[in-house]
Amino acid sequence: MRITAAVLEEYGKPFTLTELDIGEPRAGEVLVRIVATGICHTDGLAQQADLPFPTPGVLGHEGAGIVERVGPGVTSVLPGDPVIIGWPWCGRCTRCRGGRPRYCEHLAQLLAGGGRPDGSTALSRDGKPIHSHFFGQSSFATYAICAETSLVKAPPSGAVELLGPLACGVATGAGAVFNALQPDLGASMVVYGAGTVGLAAIMAARNTGASTIIAVDLHESRLALARRFGATHTVDARAHDPVVAVKDICGSRLADFALECTGKIAVVRQAIDSVGMLGTACLIGGAPAGATFEADHMSTLWGKRIVGLLGGENTSEALIGGLLELHAQGRFPFDELVQEFPLEQINQALEASLSGAVLKPVLRMPA
Ligand SMILES: [Zn+2]
Ligand SMILES: [Zn+2]
Repeated sequence: MRITAAVLEEYGKPFTLTELDIGEPRAGEVLVRIVATGICHTDGLAQQADLPFPTPGVLGHEGAGIVERVGPGVTSVLPGDPVIIGWPWCGRCTRCRGGRPRYCEHLAQLLAGGGRPDGSTALSRDGKPIHSHFFGQSSFATYAICAETSLVKAPPSGAVELLGPLACGVATGAGAVFNALQPDLGASMVVYGAGTVGLAAIMAARNTGASTIIAVDLHESRLALARRFGATHTVDARAHDPVVAVKDICGSRLADFALECTGKIAVVRQAIDSVGMLGTACLIGGAPAGATFEADHMSTLWGKRIVGLLGGENTSEALIGGLLELHAQGRFPFDELVQEFPLEQINQALEASLSGAVLKPVLRMPA
């Protein structure tokens, strides 16, 4: 079948819209007609070769759409079902079977191997393979082939085009709070970076007992959004040293939790320095390949935890399902971060995301 896709021909180059062929879904696979897909900073990292997805290939990993056809053995979805494409997982390794599919032993291959685990690709051009299955989907395209196990059913009445970002960026921020940090009543939390991931974390924190929620950013417009979504304090890092500000707000005990959402190494240090004894500094922002950070040894030794966290943890089904319910109740208004672009404006949309002009671009596929 012929599809339209935005192809990354070479690292560092803009995406080019082109026609490709897509194969039929194999056993356990589903062909999804993509209605819309979010753009995440990880797409930008892959474009710049900081996440080594092979070229030529199709990126995109926040797809949502309608099931078109199912392969042999697929029972959980039917043609016509609206779905969100979550993270892939093998389902067989110790971590998957132990309920930790975000840390599947085959994750690197499933996210960025460039095709199915057996090395085949779903996409081709003039008979030559084009790399597919980025995060198990490659959704910068009008259709994608995904594993049945990565799909999450969307509500039949909802606007599926808004829901793709729940699969990665939004889930990463919110899941960190709900699944990993789980702040107690009265806890304090500082969120570095009020982009999509950080704002999703703040929206999530407002649904917990955390009573001090501090947002740090360089842009007043984002700090205003952070206040609207639940931040109790905001710090403009251009005007104030954020670690000093956190100490002023939380006292000498510092914050219980810090979430680093920017991927900037100088900010990683600030996040680590913002938590005190038994505090947790959590790294969820993507930095360029090879980046390293330093931490103060003595204060870390005193019971501080520095943890990395992928994709909001838990299963996509539990995470996206829960966020959909909070959203329906008006308690998780992530859709206010979305700005739509047509697929042909993918390069402008990614640029707007990286510059911070747009919080969460979502690409609409041509009808
Ligand atoms: Zn696995
Ligand atoms: Zn992502």
